[in-house]
Amino acid sequence: MIKQIEKILSPPPPHWVGDGFKVHTFFPSLEIGLKRMSPFFLLDYNLKIHFPPSKTPRGVGVHPHRGFETVTIAYKGKVAHHDSFGNKGVIEEGDIQWMTAGSGILHKEYHEQEFSEKGGDFHVVQLWVNLPARDKMTSPKYQGIKNSRMGKHPLPDNMGEIEVLAGQFHETKGPAFTHTPMELYNVRLKKDAVLKLDFPENFNTGLLVVEGKVTINKSSPVATNQFVLFKNLGTEISIIAEEDCLLLVLSGEPINEPVSAYGPFVMNTEEEIQQAFQDLQDGKFGFLED
Ligand code: MN
Repeated sequence: MIKQIEKILSPPPPHWVGDGFKVHTFFPSLEIGLKRMSPFFLLDYNLKIHFPPSKTPRGVGVHPHRGFETVTIAYKGKVAHHDSFGNKGVIEEGDIQWMTAGSGILHKEYHEQEFSEKGGDFHVVQLWVNLPARDKMTSPKYQGIKNSRMGKHPLPDNMGEIEVLAGQFHETKGPAFTHTPMELYNVRLKKDAVLKLDFPENFNTGLLVVEGKVTINKSSPVATNQFVLFKNLGTEISIIAEEDCLLLVLSGEPINEPVSAYGPFVMNTEEEIQQAFQDLQDGKFGFLED
């Protein structure tokens, strides 16, 4: 049975995160509520924009996170990252960084130095993946995943490729460790490619058109930078590429727990949010220089 579209959203008005990320927050929003895409909590989309050269890297300074994971996908441009556990790295074009904030970290996210000095196109997604109560206070962890490590599933007749970041497409598995079942793919399609995807009915499922345009379920055109939310009915999605395209596909088993979220913390209860502020004040998130 076809998994029907619930809504197609154009990017909402953007806001700046620091001075380096101009993001359109598809969810949580009025259109897609706090738990509607669970286990995915937030989708910030910096659609492709050009940054002029800058001597001082743009970005966002030291800030905390607790209770979830941040997944940063660099389509264009490079992002440098440092955290209070001594992890640092550069997310290069095509790479992702899967950071488990868990019990709490401080980090900062900037345009990489050389990219910053040259300027260029910048096109980045940051997804927040919620953690179930049992794992919210897990030790912070960092998975820097190079594009070459992703599962690569070629489509027949040279019509494209599925890059599996997490989960599994047919026999091809993704490298990311996840705490709950989910699928996360970059789908690269050549013009006129036809693809069928299949996800369990109860999995919350969405698709972002990063490049190109597609027709979904033979009837709904979706343009560049639009997000498609699917109903929790039916399992099969058909995609026709109207031009060469790149899609981010996400589907996951919902975490059926209460959500209490405030700024950089995503917990189950208000008390846990208060505790996070207290622990931050008490220095339990470590230390990171600006
Ligand atoms: Mn952050």
